Amino acid sequence: MNKYINQLLQMQDLEIALHEHAALKGEEQESSRSELKRNINGLKKLLPPEVSIIYERISKKYNIYVCPMINSACTSCFMKIPVGVANSVLSTSHCISCPNCGRFLYFNEGQFDRPSDEFHQYKGVARFSSNDLMLPHIKAKTKEEVIGIIGRHCAEKGFVENDDTFVKALLKRESLISTSVGSGIAFPHARGFKACGLTLAIGTVKPGIIKENGDSLSIFFVSAVPTQTSFFYIELISKLANYFAKDVNRKKFLACSKPEDMWKILVQIGK
Ligand SMILES: [Zn+2]
Repeated sequence: MNKYINQLLQMQDLEIALHEHAALKGEEQESSRSELKRNINGLKKLLPPEVSIIYERISKKYNIYVCPMINSACTSCFMKIPVGVANSVLSTSHCISCPNCGRFLYFNEGQFDRPSDEFHQYKGVARFSSNDLMLPHIKAKTKEEVIGIIGRHCAEKGFVENDDTFVKALLKRESLISTSVGSGIAFPHARGFKACGLTLAIGTVKPGIIKENGDSLSIFFVSAVPTQTSFFYIELISKLANYFAKDVNRKKFLACSKPEDMWKILVQIGK
């Protein structure tokens, strides 16, 4: 991948993290917000002037300003990319923009298929989660262990590429800033690797075992977030965070010992 595209992707990820932070934590933890902003500005300064000019223009227009080209189409505006331009994207020597929407493009090595052809029939949360992705009462002693168990489970079930890239990406994101939002809930998530689409898996742990900053973590919402779904993901997690901020909802969910019971509660949220 072109090194500046790589850099723009990092900036985009950090900017999305800023939005997530605002959605979940309001104006709290100003220090981690400033750290994110500092990192973004640091990367911005490293862009060459010709890329910087395009960045300034495109990033004002779109939250997602770098996106993959898949099957020779821009995955944001869905415009088919002319062969000459597509070849330049593949060559990685320059930063190439979509001729239609202007977003920066990078090559994505093929698409990862969804686990089920019937996926599109589903509505609501069933579009990106499943009974198979509910993991009640995980036996683990640390946050990292829980993330590893849930992440590997997503790979085994065919929702993300079947190796350890998902777990590694989750742990890397978590080390940047904790995704815990208080009330015992956390939203570990990762972007920028092969996944079949937005994927949400949920694991519960008995309260009192995993402690972080005085909070006892018990519900983990683990997601694979393809870049294009980032803002939908933010809407989703703010809905979940609101629902699970209530003691009574959390207790009912934590009491579930079977995946199907967790799933029944989840599909009702936001209806
Ligand atoms: Zn486009």
